[in-house]
Amino acid sequence: MTEVRTARAERGGLRLFTVFGIEIRLDFSVVIIFTLIVYSLASGLFPQWHPDWSAPVAWGTALAAGVIFFASLLAHELSHSLTARRFGIRVPRITLFLFGGVAEIESEAETPGAEFTIAIAGPLMSAALGIGFMLLASGMMGEQTLAGLVEAPEETMAQLSPVVTACIWLGSVNMMLAILNLIPGFPLDGGRVFRALVWQLTGNHLLATRMAATAGRWFGWGIMALGFWNLFVLKSLGGLWLVLIGWFLSHLATASYSQLLTQRSLRALKVGDVMRTRFDHVPSDVTLEDFVENYLLRSSQQLWPVVGDGQVVGTISFAEASAVPVGQRAARRVREVMSDLAGSRVIDIEAEASVALSALLRSGDEPVAVVRGDQVVGLIRGSDILRWLMAHQDRRAS
Ligand SMILES: [Zn+2]
Repeated sequence: MTEVRTARAERGGLRLFTVFGIEIRLDFSVVIIFTLIVYSLASGLFPQWHPDWSAPVAWGTALAAGVIFFASLLAHELSHSLTARRFGIRVPRITLFLFGGVAEIESEAETPGAEFTIAIAGPLMSAALGIGFMLLASGMMGEQTLAGLVEAPEETMAQLSPVVTACIWLGSVNMMLAILNLIPGFPLDGGRVFRALVWQLTGNHLLATRMAATAGRWFGWGIMALGFWNLFVLKSLGGLWLVLIGWFLSHLATASYSQLLTQRSLRALKVGDVMRTRFDHVPSDVTLEDFVENYLLRSSQQLWPVVGDGQVVGTISFAEASAVPVGQRAARRVREVMSDLAGSRVIDIEAEASVALSALLRSGDEPVAVVRGDQVVGLIRGSDILRWLMAHQDRRAS
């Protein structure tokens, strides 16, 4: 319902199941990355480790390892989410997507301590999983095989069972996830850890966010540079991936920073503070022809409260009026075409502006009537809130 750190989940995807009261969704981009992982394991890494494996064994192991890998990603996100919930922050859903997962954490942490704990919980889970899979693998191998791995790594690897092989891969990939996520740039977990530390030291949340976002942007550019170097100097197409990931990270760093600014500026702001209060009404017994020619076309107002018997009984929009064929407009009255207040979309004057903004923009910036009780007291569009932000930009900088 409410907009969160990311709008990504809005795009939909597949609903998997609900666990601990948190809805787990799958973005369709996961299919791409899952296929890539399974393919590269089954046709690259596993045949290299096990030249004697048949194709079904390699593909079966790759498939199982891929599924468990995504379960590990989910465990990472759940770890963030359940920790956030301990601090009283609601987490309605987790979406797994291209570069891992996103937990929709409904509000920012209130203290640096909470921010730190929530941020570090994910990488700690990945590290624990990494160590767990490694221990599992070494437990199944026995001392002799372990010693063999040091003396003759290739021959010993080739003899390992599919389960042990999968555990070794899962262990190392989870360890890598823990380490990568701790890089101190927004929007990675390490960026949040970094922000919590600066916040704790300076007491300035905004400064801490700006520093973490800047670090995130530099980090993203660094990865892009590495990608271009791979592409043009080493002539390796793999560099394209790095360019893409780096671009994505630097973009996310900027986006999450400006989103935070918007959220902060709109904090404590009600719909009543930003709605339009200068607007006209139309009587309910006016004909549609009269309404279109003498009201609608004489004003830039898109939505009109309709008045009958001294009070507002509904609203009529440009779209509703112009949907009636020109030839029938003289014979029909506004009250026949309007939406009554009970049936139309209205927004309460006390609603939070930041919540209203995402709802309004999602529905294509159509104007909506603002009500107090059953009275229409204003009109609002998503762009009105954006205009408010532009008009108060100096307040944002301070
Ligand atoms: Zn994380």
